[in-house]
Amino acid sequence: MGNNKDNYRQIAIDGPAGAGKSTIARMIAEKLGFYYLDTGAMYRAVAYKALASGISLHDEHRVADLARHLTIQLDHSNKQSVFCDGEDITAKIRDVQVSRAVSTVASYPGVRERLVELQRLEAQKGNVVMDGRDIGTHVLPGAKIKIFLTASPEERAHRRYQEISKTNHDISFEQVLADLEKRDALDSQRQYAPLKPAEDAIIVDTTGLTIEGVVTKIIEIIRGDRS
Ligand code: C5P
Repeated sequence: MGNNKDNYRQIAIDGPAGAGKSTIARMIAEKLGFYYLDTGAMYRAVAYKALASGISLHDEHRVADLARHLTIQLDHSNKQSVFCDGEDITAKIRDVQVSRAVSTVASYPGVRERLVELQRLEAQKGNVVMDGRDIGTHVLPGAKIKIFLTASPEERAHRRYQEISKTNHDISFEQVLADLEKRDALDSQRQYAPLKPAEDAIIVDTTGLTIEGVVTKIIEIIRGDRS
């Protein structure tokens, strides 16, 4: 009734690194007039802050404590700015160093519990498209639509390389592929809320498809569900 949170529609988009989740989720949210939440940005914020504070990534207790005391603000406008304790870290969380550190901090239950709590609070604000690794399985298990986006590792690394090499000229395609495969392995093998498709997820393989093609396909799935 009225603004009852149970009436809000939730769309979960999960998948490995470089599958195109954030671009696609953002476009879908725009088309539907939903708001978009990039949960990876929140894990990246914790990794960034741990690196910036000189906390050892292997000190689970301190990293979890850091996550519990951090203020993370995500701006839902088109810019998707990320603020951490008041600092604009939008560009910084995309650094290679942060990408290499993030799966370690994301494996800690204390970090995940805190961020999942924030993610569920965000989902109470309205219709949402949320992307991540465990949205369909853990964060929003009751989501109406669950999409698991995937693509071959080479294609995903190729997309990432094109993006990263615009600003980082020292990194090779082979390094990007190795980093991505390592991150996927850590994300899917962790004990707590690993990367995997929910049982009721629809798998969408984006290999060889354009972004617009994938968006159209997912919008069709969503519209089909309304009938
Ligand atoms: O989506 P993105 O690649 O920015 O996510 C960065 C990392 O954050 C992932 O590799 C994963 O370790 C972690 N993550 C997660 N659960 C989520 C979203 C991201 O563990 N829901």
